[in-house]
Parts: sequence; C-alpha cells; structure tokens
Amino acid sequence: MIGCRISRVEIIDTHCHLDVGEFDADRSVVIDRARSRGVAGFVVPAIDREGWEGLLCLCLSAPDLHPALGLHPVYIDRHRDSHLRDLEQWLEQERPVAVGEIGLDYWVPDLDRERQMALFEAQLGLARNADLPVLLHVRKAHDPVIAALRRTTVKGGIAHAFNGSIQQAHQYIDLGFKLGFGGMLTFERSTKLRALARALPLESLVLETDAPDMTVAAHRGERNSPEYLPDCLHAMAEVRDQDPAYVAERTTANARQLLRIT
Ligand SMILES: [Zn+2]
Repeated sequence: MIGCRISRVEIIDTHCHLDVGEFDADRSVVIDRARSRGVAGFVVPAIDREGWEGLLCLCLSAPDLHPALGLHPVYIDRHRDSHLRDLEQWLEQERPVAVGEIGLDYWVPDLDRERQMALFEAQLGLARNADLPVLLHVRKAHDPVIAALRRTTVKGGIAHAFNGSIQQAHQYIDLGFKLGFGGMLTFERSTKLRALARALPLESLVLETDAPDMTVAAHRGERNSPEYLPDCLHAMAEVRDQDPAYVAERTTANARQLLRIT
C-alpha cells in the first residue's frame, strides 16, 4: 500500500539480569532473539561486588546493554563496608546508567533490617553524589523506602516490579520515580496490579522482565527472558485499552529520559 509505513516498535527491558549463570549457555542467542522482537535496550542491574566485573564486561560488548552497579538487599551477608567504598569509585570511573539494584526486602525472613537500611541509605548517598538514578528492589517495605528517599533525595529512578498501593505509587512519582511493570501483568489473576497499571499515568510507567526470575503467563514455570518483553507490553496495552505501539513509544521514551540512554 502506498504511503503505508511499518513502524518498528522499540521497547526497553529496564531490569534483566543477563549476566547471571542461567544465561551462560545461550546469552548471545537470547539477546539476539530479544532484539529481533523489538527490544532496543537492556538494563542489567547488579547483585553484589563479585558480579560487577562480569556485568560491566558483558555491557561493553554491545551499545544496547546498559549496566547498573550496586549491592542488592537480599544478599546482605555478602556485602562489606569496603564494597561501598569500591562502589563510590566505580560509579565515578565506569559511569553506569544507575545505582542498582538497591533497596529493602522485609519479605524474606531473617534479613537484618537495620543493616539493610544502613546499606540502602549509604548507596542513596553515593547515587546522589554521582548524580545517578537508582533501581529499587522493594518488598513489603514501600513506606520505609519512601521515607529514606525523602531523607536522601536522588535523581529519581525506577521502583522495580512495583506492587504497592496507588498512594505509594503517587509518592514515588512525586519523588521523580517511574514504576516498573513486567510479567505479573500477563496473569489474569493479577487483578490489583492490572488495576494499578490501568490507573497510573503512562508517563510514570516502564517495562521490565526481571529475567531470569518471574516470568510471563505464556512461559509459566520456565526461565524468564528479555525476549518475552513484548508479552509485558501487550498486557499493559490491553489493561490500559491503548495501542501497543503507543504504549511502547511512551514507555521507551520514559526509560531513555530517566536513564539517559539513546
Ligand atoms: Zn532484579
């Protein structure tokens, strides 16, 4: 048809752990398949100090792979004070797109909450000094995280796999944050999450998979992968009753602007 243009949909996976062992056997194949399905950017958040080198090395291999560096709250026992000093140095030298993933996990039992908060606040301070956004891991701890963000203001970020209340969502938005939605949206039973994704302004939403964790309904029980990000896009477009191409364009613009990636 003359004048008909097929516009290519571009989406960004704002949270995928492509550096972990689950992808060792087929990492480049997975990345290529995701690219062929429209994934134009991959943000790879760190877990612990030991993983930083490998993560940065992976992200140097292609311009659409974007590193974040940080110390994940669930692995509190692996983190040392010296890792915070290293982080300060690495943020300056390596200039990742964000500090992450960091936060508070009050869902996992027996994780020392005081140590988590101290680690989180220290990393917020480093993010602020480095003028970088943060990628937040938050479970059963939105109110203390929001309180910490009010004490130490940072350049916004993403509340990854958001699953709080609409009031908490608006508190994050007021602090300059986007909310990350992924595979859980593809499940019909996620009624609360779907209602949130429908009610929130599109300017505050970004897409993510959290691969290899979580997954989409069509691949239940399997390893999650950034190649399934289109499923998340379509679920978001469906619950919002909007054109997927439009949702893709806007959420991609949100991610690019926040993380300063092209
Ligand atoms: Zn993660």
